[in-house]
Amino acid sequence: MSDRVFNFSAGPAVIPQPVLEAAQRHVLRIEGLGMSALEISHRSEWFSDVIQEAEANLRLLLAIPPNYRVVFCQGGATLQFSMVAMNFLRGTGKAADYVVTGSWGSKAVKEAEKEGEVRVAWTDTSNGFRRVPSDLELSEALTANGAFVHITANETIQGVEFPGTPAVPEGVNLFCDMSSDFLSGPIEVARYGLIYAGAQKNAGPAGVTIAIIREDLLERIPGGLPIMLDYRTFTEHGSLYNTPPVFSILVLMLVTRWLRDDVGGLDKQLDHNRAKASALYGAIDAGKGFYRGHADPQSRSLMNVTWTLPTPELEKRFVAEAAAEGMIELKGHRSVGGIRASIYNAMPLEGAEMLARFMEAFRAANA
Ligand SMILES: *Cc1c(COP(=O)(O)O)cnc(C)c1O
Repeated sequence: MSDRVFNFSAGPAVIPQPVLEAAQRHVLRIEGLGMSALEISHRSEWFSDVIQEAEANLRLLLAIPPNYRVVFCQGGATLQFSMVAMNFLRGTGKAADYVVTGSWGSKAVKEAEKEGEVRVAWTDTSNGFRRVPSDLELSEALTANGAFVHITANETIQGVEFPGTPAVPEGVNLFCDMSSDFLSGPIEVARYGLIYAGAQKNAGPAGVTIAIIREDLLERIPGGLPIMLDYRTFTEHGSLYNTPPVFSILVLMLVTRWLRDDVGGLDKQLDHNRAKASALYGAIDAGKGFYRGHADPQSRSLMNVTWTLPTPELEKRFVAEAAAEGMIELKGHRSVGGIRASIYNAMPLEGAEMLARFMEAFRAANA
């Protein structure tokens, strides 16, 4: 499709072309059923197969251990900010430790504070959120018997990412907002108590939020929660207590099938993501003085690359000239400014390389 642009949006974001084509077919008619995926009952055999395959593909791709449950919620990652705190902080009499490495972590804290005591165990806010803590800093910052520890794997706005799962003391339940780097590479699920991710960054369209929960934690959930805010409602009914977002779950399933069959798994996807990120960080580093990366090198995100130019006027021109060449949505978030290039799984290497070449040319013309 020659009229496709390279869409560097942070979310909703690029979806693989073969997935869009399969989704399009399903909007018109599900093969053999004579109706659209937008019309069909969530109680149908067809949808039962779809939601089961979505879970099976996630289990395969992420090697999710059997003692973890996978559920599909609504309300985005933002509702998870409340839900994790309602389910696992409310009434515990303990504090939860939040490691705040950017804007989303800050928002998660605000919601958790409504449910109980929150400690910001570590933050880089005074430095403009440029890095994640080292394992040593983290081990000194965390308390041993809190309710849980919450991190944001990748801060989408600042472009700051943990390079791997941080080490936490034995027995500490690590909860993670993985919205913007979910499925970007393999993870060790067993090191987390709970993982959640809104789909619309890297896993599909908006409307569905994936949560992966270690089974034994479910026993700690207090009674009396609103039914749709209690994880047990989802685990006990296969995420089908009420009407789920059927179409969003279909597209999530198609994305996971694409990762499984076309990409060949998350190790391959990670190599691909590294190649794209290194093209862009290479262009930033080559343009030192003209381009300034926001994140410290050891905390650089593979998903959201953020940098500034010498003046806001140059940044405006950069965004406009790139758009004229078919590279869109490069304006940084208003809270950080500058440029942000989101290079999720479905962004082709070609797109990142084209942007890197544009950066070199723009610098040569304007430095
Ligand atoms: C986008 C994003 C959110 C918010 O997601 P919604 O689905 O819009 O609620 C939360 N955390 C991170 C890391 C994000 O990237």
